[in-house]
Amino acid sequence: MFKFDKDLFMTNLYEGIYVVDKNRKILFWNSGSEKITGYKAEEVINSFCYDNILQHVDSTGKQLCFSGCPLQGTLETGEINEAEVFLHHKDGHRVPVSVKSIPMYDDNNNLIAVVEAFTDASHRAVKHEEIVKLKKILDIDSLTSIYNRRYLDFYLNNAVLQNKEFNSPFGLLFFDIDHFKKVNDTYGHIIGDKILKIIAKTLKLALRPTDVLGRWGGEEFIAVIKDVSVDILADVAERLRIICKNSFLTLDNGEDLSVTISIGGSLYIPEEPIESLIARADEYMYKAKENGRDRVVIK
Ligand code: GH3
Ligand code: MG
Ligand code: MG
Repeated sequence: MFKFDKDLFMTNLYEGIYVVDKNRKILFWNSGSEKITGYKAEEVINSFCYDNILQHVDSTGKQLCFSGCPLQGTLETGEINEAEVFLHHKDGHRVPVSVKSIPMYDDNNNLIAVVEAFTDASHRAVKHEEIVKLKKILDIDSLTSIYNRRYLDFYLNNAVLQNKEFNSPFGLLFFDIDHFKKVNDTYGHIIGDKILKIIAKTLKLALRPTDVLGRWGGEEFIAVIKDVSVDILADVAERLRIICKNSFLTLDNGEDLSVTISIGGSLYIPEEPIESLIARADEYMYKAKENGRDRVVIK
């Protein structure tokens, strides 16, 4: 037979556990509750839950002590309740916790108490924030602050899956800055970088929020345009070509420096591998270069 040491168990849990009687008087308060809430057992034992010590609110700020209290719900119905709430810490801040209230019965099956178990969810919240941050770092090009190639790959593969499932058409535009090596050679790399940023930002602001733009490499960009025809894709490309040509960087000597771009584009053909679409758009971009640069080839 193993021996269950209740006190040892309760004092070593990271989870907060407290017990209230039918009148919501707090009978038990473990060390986990002390750690999470800042309140010592002697401060809360024998006070009533509705004295509103912890003042649970939900994510909309609604005070749960008056309605929607998971503990009260369990007292009334005998059901186990779970909720994500924010409790009041003694120091004044709010702590996100997952709470679970569980009914306790006597030998005659009368509900005599409710146990509330709660875990500090703030670590999870931090983790989630960190993941969002990390994901941003992984997906964003550090120079231009638009999506990088990694994200474009992911997004394009997703677009293919959506095309398979919902027949949703999409087109791809491939942009390459004209004579960019000359810009670097003439004005230096730092000015070259500034031009890259200007073109990326101009393209991004000229596209719709639902279009996705990323830096494919060096001075090459790709835009993915959903729900388009060839004609619309060509219109979009032409608009982008003109707006880029009309953006400029004013140099220290007062000179306005602008660049032109060549654009190739095509629609996704159902069933084709995504690499074929990219290669086709790239090929048309080269056609635009051959035809004299600063132009659009869409087929
Ligand atoms: P074309 O009209 O045929 O495209 O000529 P181009 O000079 O633009 O073509 P090429 O591909 O030969 O040169 C691209 C240049 O882009 C080479 C490289 O110096 C420059 N480049 C690539 N990445 C960066 C970058 O991050 N910053 C800067 N400043 N320049 C870059
Ligand atoms: Mg290039
Ligand atoms: Mg180029």
